[in-house]
Amino acid sequence: MNRLFLRFFALVMLSISVATIAIYASITIFFGDPLEEVALQQASGQILLLTEYVDQAGPNEWLTRLNKIREITHARIELIPLQMAQQKLTKTKQAQLMRGDVVMDVTAKSFYRRVDLNGERYIGSDEEVLLAQELPIDVAPVLKTELLRYIIVALCLLIPIAVWSSSHWRGLQALAKVADEFGAGHLKVRAQTSERDSIYPLAQRMNQMATRIEALLAAQKNLLHSVSHELRTPIARLEFALELLRNAAKNPQLEPRMQAMEADISELNALVSELLDLGKLDQDARLDCREFDLGKSLNNCVNSLQHVLVAHQLETDFSVDLGNVRADQRLLMRAISNLLRNAAKYANGRIWLRARKLDGNIDISLEDDGPGIPASERERVFDAFYRLDRSRDRNTGGFGLGLAIARKAIEAHGGQIIVQEGQFGGARFIISLPLQAQ
Ligand code: ATP
Ligand code: MG
Repeated sequence: MNRLFLRFFALVMLSISVATIAIYASITIFFGDPLEEVALQQASGQILLLTEYVDQAGPNEWLTRLNKIREITHARIELIPLQMAQQKLTKTKQAQLMRGDVVMDVTAKSFYRRVDLNGERYIGSDEEVLLAQELPIDVAPVLKTELLRYIIVALCLLIPIAVWSSSHWRGLQALAKVADEFGAGHLKVRAQTSERDSIYPLAQRMNQMATRIEALLAAQKNLLHSVSHELRTPIARLEFALELLRNAAKNPQLEPRMQAMEADISELNALVSELLDLGKLDQDARLDCREFDLGKSLNNCVNSLQHVLVAHQLETDFSVDLGNVRADQRLLMRAISNLLRNAAKYANGRIWLRARKLDGNIDISLEDDGPGIPASERERVFDAFYRLDRSRDRNTGGFGLGLAIARKAIEAHGGQIIVQEGQFGGARFIISLPLQAQ
């Protein structure tokens, strides 16, 4: 935002400078260089002496009178060859000189003028130029006046612009803050602007957009929640009916089918429970924070999953100072067990679980030696229902909700979870939790 206004100020300053240069250039083109005019006036004493006294002399007397002038004036007057004078002057000034005009050189505080045009004053006088130096020329006061004018114009433009833009700036800053907060997931924030503010229409539109997004998200979550909820009753009825059927039929031929149906129903049940959990985390992730021993909890979590982990070699490494943490134990262990289940599904044989304290954070990493997750999918695997390779997952089962739930649980604690490539090409999930977990 600052950059926007700095650029605006720079543009205004640039415009004023360009305008000043353009004015100076056009005055010079149409009316002659104003600084030369000033210098001519300041050197008018010497010029007058030359034209009214020296030039009025007869042919033999011209040099005598010039020498007299040399004695009385402070300026240094010399005669130089015409060619040398031409070398020192620009094209336009050379033309002026050839016409016999007085040619000013403001920076050198001097002027040039040909002795005469037809060599009447002395032999070769048409080939000589009179150069008057160290003239009493001082254009500094004029330049200072111009500078003052420039500063006043700049201030008269910049001050109102600064006052006008500062209100926009504050408004835009406030809008940017609201947009940041909204982007960070605080869907209730709205821009607070009064109707008199210039950015009011923009803020209104932003607020409308925010309200709509919030409503859409709420509707989506509600839908998911309601559908999952509604599914529970028919599933329960099916379970009940199946049980009745099993008792009534007592037919060994139907037994395998019944078992398959039971497996399907329990899968449906699991899906609904997961969905409801996800919905709960989405709607209000109220944490039940208590102090607990993290190392112990991790060990309990691993023990409770022994049945899925038996096929693998699990190495645990917890730093000694892990100690107690304040967090929602159930939710945190849910996230870890989801990761452990995944590792058990995809590992070839080895799994590593590490936890340590680092810079006010607790880092928990879980790595396996399985196929890993390609870099392009490492963000998407945390989306609900997202699974990588469907053929692979058909064997491994799952709904694609485990990582979505794990991320929500970790984020509810103010932490974050990422996945990278592990040492042996498998997936390495890293959870980092702030120590003062909320
Ligand atoms: P659910 O956890 O709901 O039972 P799931 O395990 O398929 O199902 P997620 O845990 O969300 O779903 O994982 C999403 C996808 O990420 C998985 O389907 C799998 O393709 C990939 N994935 C997760 N963990 C690993 C891992 N350790 N190694 C390789 N791929 C993984
Ligand atoms: Mg999973």
